[in-house]
Amino acid sequence: MTQHFLLSAALRDFSLKDILDMSEDDAMMFFAEHRWKSRDHQVCPQCGLIDNHYFRTKRRQWKCKSCEHCFSVTSGMVFDGHRLPYKLLLTALLLFTSAAQGMSALQMSRLLGIQAKSAATFEGKLKEVLVKQANRPLLKGIIHVDGGHFGGKPRRARRRRKITPEEVMARINQKGSAKRKRYQGCSQLNLKKKANKRVTYVLRELDAEGKKAVKTIVCVGKTENERDALAFIHRYVEKGSTIMSDENPAYSKLNTLGYTHMAVQHSIEYCRDDGVNENQAESFFSRLRRMEYGTTHRITPTYLMDYSQEMAWREDTRTMTTLEKITELLKMCNKNGLSEWWRGYWQGNRRGDEILLNDLLKIEDSLRT
Ligand SMILES: [Zn+2]
Repeated sequence: MTQHFLLSAALRDFSLKDILDMSEDDAMMFFAEHRWKSRDHQVCPQCGLIDNHYFRTKRRQWKCKSCEHCFSVTSGMVFDGHRLPYKLLLTALLLFTSAAQGMSALQMSRLLGIQAKSAATFEGKLKEVLVKQANRPLLKGIIHVDGGHFGGKPRRARRRRKITPEEVMARINQKGSAKRKRYQGCSQLNLKKKANKRVTYVLRELDAEGKKAVKTIVCVGKTENERDALAFIHRYVEKGSTIMSDENPAYSKLNTLGYTHMAVQHSIEYCRDDGVNENQAESFFSRLRRMEYGTTHRITPTYLMDYSQEMAWREDTRTMTTLEKITELLKMCNKNGLSEWWRGYWQGNRRGDEILLNDLLKIEDSLRT
């Protein structure tokens, strides 16, 4: 039997041991090599001159030979203006990429000896990069789609015996009883529970054998409805593809829109006899659920898109080695430029808005132009 990839030595091409062996300058050169693909040539962020610029050793900065602009290896990228030493920054990056279900800001703060807010800002910036720079190609072939509810409070567990409407009325009409009060507050309570609940939609493209998911695209909606579902699919799935979903009516019109739609009835089975299922979408929700229950403990609607995207990235890069993941993440960080959502977080600046499907499409369109 061949060895599982996650157990192989190839996966461990970069670890905490390598960082511990580094000096602060080595760590800085690690970032420089990933940014400029060179150890001795830098690109001035001001005038764009590629040269072996003057190095100011004490400040770990370069001075441009043409415009005399001073810059560091993180100038003009998401980590612009960071206060962490390069070694710690690299360690934080390693922790982020190697955690299976993500890492909470508190845990990162304990491991690195930094404030939880610093860790949250660091991780927030990485998630911003993932949301904005994620590669979202047009999916084709077999695609699994579904929507899962996240955030808010868990709904009340199912009762063993359904009470009849007459019994409900009898309880409501019981004058002065505590039960009456409880029942009157019930709908209010449910509204409150739902207020912070959102739906994460997921599209997962399967490989040629139809066994593994190779690409994951996510978005967030307020409810699982036809308008959002169709708009999401229309944008990211090629016409003529086969889409598998559950029996939710939100997807029932897909056959008329140029897709081949197949549905599995979850009330009966998880996989039809002819192999139709949407288990890769369920698998994604299982991971995201574990992140919600085990790592973050709470996901507010404001940041649900960020967390969903983070998990989508973790799923898609699961067969990469540690160094490959860090390289890809740094490439996206360099491409993204300054952080828009997390700069000035310490001064009280907050993004505030949640990112729903329409916002995501707008972000994508603005970056393409
Ligand atoms: Zn310059």
